[in-house]
This record gives sequence, structure tokens and C-alpha cells, in this order.
Amino acid sequence: MKTGPLPTLADNKLVRMVEISRVLNSTTNLDQLLNTIINEAADLINTEAASILLLDPKTRQLHFKASSNDIPAQMADMPVSLDDSIAGAIFTENRLLHIPDVTKDGRWNQNVDEAIEFKTKSILGVPMHNVDQEPVGVLEAINKQGGVFTKQDAAMLTVLADIAGVAVEKARLFEQLEVANAELNELDQIKTNFISIASHELRTPLAVILGYVSFLREEADPAMAGQFDSVLDAAVHLRGLIQDMLNLQYVDAGQKAEQSIVDLTELVTNMNLDKDETMEAKSQQITISLPNSPLKAKVDANMLEVVISNLMSNAVKFTPREGAIEVTLEVNGREAWLTIADSGVGIPQDQVDRIFKRFYQVESALVRQHEGMGLGLSIAKDLVELNNGRIWAENRSAQGSQFIVAFNIVD
Ligand code: ADP
Repeated sequence: MKTGPLPTLADNKLVRMVEISRVLNSTTNLDQLLNTIINEAADLINTEAASILLLDPKTRQLHFKASSNDIPAQMADMPVSLDDSIAGAIFTENRLLHIPDVTKDGRWNQNVDEAIEFKTKSILGVPMHNVDQEPVGVLEAINKQGGVFTKQDAAMLTVLADIAGVAVEKARLFEQLEVANAELNELDQIKTNFISIASHELRTPLAVILGYVSFLREEADPAMAGQFDSVLDAAVHLRGLIQDMLNLQYVDAGQKAEQSIVDLTELVTNMNLDKDETMEAKSQQITISLPNSPLKAKVDANMLEVVISNLMSNAVKFTPREGAIEVTLEVNGREAWLTIADSGVGIPQDQVDRIFKRFYQVESALVRQHEGMGLGLSIAKDLVELNNGRIWAENRSAQGSQFIVAFNIVD
């Protein structure tokens, strides 16, 4: 704010200023915002016209951005130099200027008047500041009607310019944010297209490899069979990765959940979560606790199975040999909670939400010890949300982490 006490504004004007401030703060469209400012300035101060000039940081010239004269094109294209103009002086000296008669001021330039057939007589101008109190433009009130500019006019214009300066900066930042956001969306779309093309292109040759290797494995003598098994394992693993990519694409394509009333107890039982080759190979212990009675929710059963297998494969992957995995299905209020807990590496506390983002992995890809593309959790989250559920991760107090999926119970 400016130094020195401001003269008291008449009450109705104060109310009006508060309202202007509210409007300016709620508008993010720069043109609309500037027009509001000049119209209010001309009205409150009772002048024939008002203009806003903003600094172009590249050329360091001022440009008319709004005027109650409806800013004709030739005015918009007419840069105003900082060095020999009244607006330039207000900007560079960073202070209010009152010019009662422009014809007596050496800095006065009548090009604009001539271009728009207007006659400027007097000017009251103030710098507009950003939040750091740096000047960003100039607000000018032109030709006081029926008298001369008063101290109260100066006070009002100063307040208005300060509100406007901050609002202009906010609107500019908002515009920059929108551009950045559009760029990000475009990049995201490119990435999604790439995944879509890659997954489809990989699927066909992989099917050929799987088919021939299975056939050769059948025909091979026992000495060779083990080697074919390794090829087959690798190909099956690759198929899992491609399936993740395809799942992602289905979610992006707006796949609808085919919901029905599903007994979650039965669904989990039928998944045979205790029969997992990797888990057995790592000698991990699994405990499955289910309710004694059916627990029903309205979900797409296939989607929920994908969610559970993604969470299970992570639990197995991020838990060392002989670790423990606990699967619990229970009632919590009006919801069914499925918890998959492990005694594994855990998740850094500041990343428990971020791991649900696409391609996000806690370990950097360069030093990564675990396989995967960072898609499983983002797919799980999308699928759970498509079914109106919630999913989140927590660290366990002892060791490891747990993932909870919650759905409303239906009777
Ligand atoms: P991926 O497992 O393919 O890396 P996910 O989306 O399934 O991708 O998981 C993202 C990241 O979240 C993992 O890379 C890992 O850092 C972390 N994470 C997921 N599940 C667990 C878990 N059970 N324990 C520890 N960290 C986990």
C-alpha cells in the first residue's frame, strides 16, 4: 500500500470499492477485468474517460490494454515510450501525477488523441503495482467532468490501481497456468497414444512367440524343456506388462463398469490368493481373514479382480523372502474394507498418495531392483473409482505397508 493516510472515502464509495475488489478478485479473464477497472474508475471519479496501459516486459514499452473509448485498433498498436510520455513518467517515477492541462506539459503527445479523435484536457494517473510493489502498468483518469481532480479522486484511483495491479498479475498467472496445463494435457495425450500403439503392436508378435514356444516345449526332449520354460516364463511376464498397458487404455477410453451385486467374500475366496507361484517361491506366509457371512457390494467383479491381483502382486514383489502377507475383508461402518497388508519395504510417508499416479515408482528407474512399469496402482485406483469406491495406502507401524479398498455395502 502507499504511504501517508488516505482521505476518508464517502461511505457509498467505500462500499462500491469493496464490491469492485470482490469482482476483480473473482475474475480471471484479463480483458474483462481491465474493462471493469476502467469503467469503474471513470464512473467513481467522474471523468470523461479512463485508460490502462500495461508494460510489455520484452520491449519495455507501455501498451493501451483497455480504455473507456473502446480502444480502437490503432490505439492498441501504438506503443507508448517510457522516456517521453506522461504515462511513462508515472511508471518510471512510480508515483501519482496530476496534469491539470496537458497542453502545458512537454511530455504530452497528441498522436493518440489524433488517432481516435478525442481531446484530452487533464489527466490524473497512478502506477499499478504487483504484489511485490513493482510497477506493472498505469491507470489514467482523463478529463474530470465539472471541476478539477480532488484529493479524494487521487486516493480512490490509487486504491483502485493497487487492487487492479494485483488482479492483473493474478489473471496473467492464471493464463500462464492454463497454457502450461494445456501443454501437459497434450503431452499426456501423446503418452497415452504411445501406450496404445505400443501395446497393440507388441501383442501380436508376443502371441506368436507364446504359441510357438508352447508347441516346441511340448515337442522338446527333457534336456531342452527347462530352457523353453525360461523363454515361456519371460513371455508370460511380458504378456502381464502388456495387459497393464491395455487395461490403462480401457480406462482412458471411458470403459464403463458392469456392476452387479457381488458377494465380496465369495469373490476373494474364489481368487485362491494363497496359490501364487512367486509367493511360494519366496516362502512367504499368507493369512486370509474373511467374514463368516456374505458381504455384498455393487461392483464390476472383473474390475475388482484386476484391482486385487495388482495389489497382491505388489505385496509379493515388495516383501522379502519369508515375509508375511495378510488379506482381511471386514465390515467398517456401512462399508466393506478389503485390506492387503505386507511386511515388506514400506512406502516413504510423503509418497503414500503419489504412488497412485501413472508411472510413479518410489525407486528411481535407474537403480530399480523390482520389475514393473508403475501402472498397477494407477489402474487399481481408476477401476476402484469407476465403481464408486476408495483406495489408499498406509504404512504399518511395525513394518511394511497396507492398501485398503472400501466399497459401500448393499443389503
Ligand atoms: P509397479 O509395481 O509396476 O512399480 P505400481 O503402480 O503397482 O507399479 O506401484 C507403484 C509404486 O508404488 C511401486 O513402484 C512401489 O514403489 C510402490 N509400491 C506399490 N505397492 C507397494 C507395496 N506393497 N510395498 C511397498 N511399495 C509399494
